Amino acid sequence: MSKTVNATSFDKEALRKKYAAERDKRIRADGNDQYIEIKDQWGHYLEDPYIKVQEREPVSDHVTVAFIGGGFSGLVTGARCVENGIVDVRIIEKGGDFGGTWYWNRYPGAMCDTAAMIYMPLLEETGHRPTKKYAFAPEILQQCRRIGETYDLYNQALFHTEVTDLSWDDEQRVWRIQTNRGDDFTAQFVGMGTGPLHVPKLPGIPGIESFQGHSFHTSRWDYDYTGGSPDGLPLTKLKNKRVAIIGTGATSVQCVPALAESAETLFVFQRTPSSVDVRANEDIDPDWFDGIASEGWQMRWIENFTANQTGHPAEMDLVKDGWTDISRRVRSKISELSAEELTAENMMRAYEDADMEKMQEIRARCNSVVENQATAEDLKAWYGQLCKRPCFHDEYLQAYNQPGCHLIDTDGQGVERITESGLVVAGKEYEVDCIIYASGFEVGTPFERRNGYETTGRDGVKLSDYWSNGMRTLHGIHVHGFPNLFIVQATQGGNLISNYPHNLTESGNTIGMMVRHALDMQFREIEVSLEAENAWLELLKQAPPMMIGTTECTPGYYNNEGKGWEAGLTGGGYPYGPVAYFKYLNEWRDSGEFEGLEFRS
Ligand code: NDP
Repeated sequence: MSKTVNATSFDKEALRKKYAAERDKRIRADGNDQYIEIKDQWGHYLEDPYIKVQEREPVSDHVTVAFIGGGFSGLVTGARCVENGIVDVRIIEKGGDFGGTWYWNRYPGAMCDTAAMIYMPLLEETGHRPTKKYAFAPEILQQCRRIGETYDLYNQALFHTEVTDLSWDDEQRVWRIQTNRGDDFTAQFVGMGTGPLHVPKLPGIPGIESFQGHSFHTSRWDYDYTGGSPDGLPLTKLKNKRVAIIGTGATSVQCVPALAESAETLFVFQRTPSSVDVRANEDIDPDWFDGIASEGWQMRWIENFTANQTGHPAEMDLVKDGWTDISRRVRSKISELSAEELTAENMMRAYEDADMEKMQEIRARCNSVVENQATAEDLKAWYGQLCKRPCFHDEYLQAYNQPGCHLIDTDGQGVERITESGLVVAGKEYEVDCIIYASGFEVGTPFERRNGYETTGRDGVKLSDYWSNGMRTLHGIHVHGFPNLFIVQATQGGNLISNYPHNLTESGNTIGMMVRHALDMQFREIEVSLEAENAWLELLKQAPPMMIGTTECTPGYYNNEGKGWEAGLTGGGYPYGPVAYFKYLNEWRDSGEFEGLEFRS
């Protein structure tokens, strides 16, 4: 465990200055434009290395529910529809199977970062017990397949299929869906769950096109080249190879240990270090699990985590991990304030104290784990813990103690140049056989670019136009002018990032019930009224400033590469927090009134 540090034992002002200096060093005018969009000459980086595309006839029929995206969103919504007796559900997925992010991300060492008991959807419904506190990717992918099989979602699914157009047909009052496989069919209801991180990007490093060795993106891992398997077999084909990995985000943190173990030489090119706290993964004891798995266990665990993580009173902390530790510390600091001291300013200060203490501990961990103290210094993250995705790992820092593993720190500037045979940093060339891009995914680019299709609603209004001044929804799910369309994601709803599937499950429950209600009452359309949408947006304005995504943070996708998000409503959530939101949403749908929605026959 890392050593406990007290806020009074360091100079807060000096730390603030250090954070600001490290951020300033990394700010770039080009923001998201520094990255290469993967298309045309780069298109091969998107090819599916896992499952061969199968020929099939295009479909041209009608279904009750179509869902775009076969990851957690599509699976939980599809499952809830089936539970509500709506079995005519077609999921359209660009991968070759269900799984979404877990279909694509099969890099060695991939595992969930939030405890499996609460992260893996529908465990209770499918009867699966996670094998570890943090399950590895193959187990999560298998759970996705299990959901697909349990709810018979494979039957109508279209894999290796990308939607190219989605339009509301005002006359027929159905959605028309066209795809890159020639499909042209209709659906009464459409769900969209395309996820925030599904379009890989490449760093726009000068000379990147000239590299003559092998290269791939982490979300399309080339096991033919590396050897090994997602199940953890060593990457034996790398034993005579010099490998570079670019990026040190959450993905790199998970795959560097396997690379360091197998490659002859590994160069890890770092622009900004991640904060890497203790993981403490452990096996789940079947007897213990049997003892806790009484009816409703998973929802109890999920709600307990959300309460703990978002500062709500909870008698116990069932998950007990790095995420709940963050908020436990903040709560404890705030509890030291007297009633008179409980001002917004003091609460922010308490938050900052807790955060700085935590980050001091995480930085000290670098010195205690990494033998080479210069490397340890370079691995220290100089920013607040929620400025970037917090990481937890028990082998990442240790990997730098392997003789063949070298951290190439670029002092915030990134790789200078790529040549035919290697990478250049500070004028020095590192020759390699292979470059692995752990350079992340498009987040701040336009929604329709990332989805690859436009959504056209009533009267030919395009979603991109309707949202041109910011996202507009009720609950993050419904959009006025887009009847029978449901969006499954967290923004403008629960906005809970620490356990994203909690948001998705709640949306899935809601959609299943709404569609059932519409079918029972023979309503053909469900649409949010403009008044209800406006009222929701007004309510969201009351939300306190977000702790995530501020421009005071070092740049990254959380804060739109340092530029921040447009003022207004883009990234916020329910003002009273996720616990209150999920309670509100439950009551809203259980009332059967679905206030704010218009149902039309
Ligand atoms: P990130 O966007 O977090 O990381 C990209 C990395 O590439 C950063 O370290 C970035 O540096 C670096 N980079 C970009 N350009 C250059 C350059 N020119 N030179 C050198 N380095 C460069 O992507 P990830 O795939 O790591 O993670 C994305 C998200 O996916 C995570 O934040 C998390 O939400 C999710 N994820 C979840 C996991 C889980 O739950 N198990 C596991 C893995 C990922 P810089 O920081 O300076 O921009």
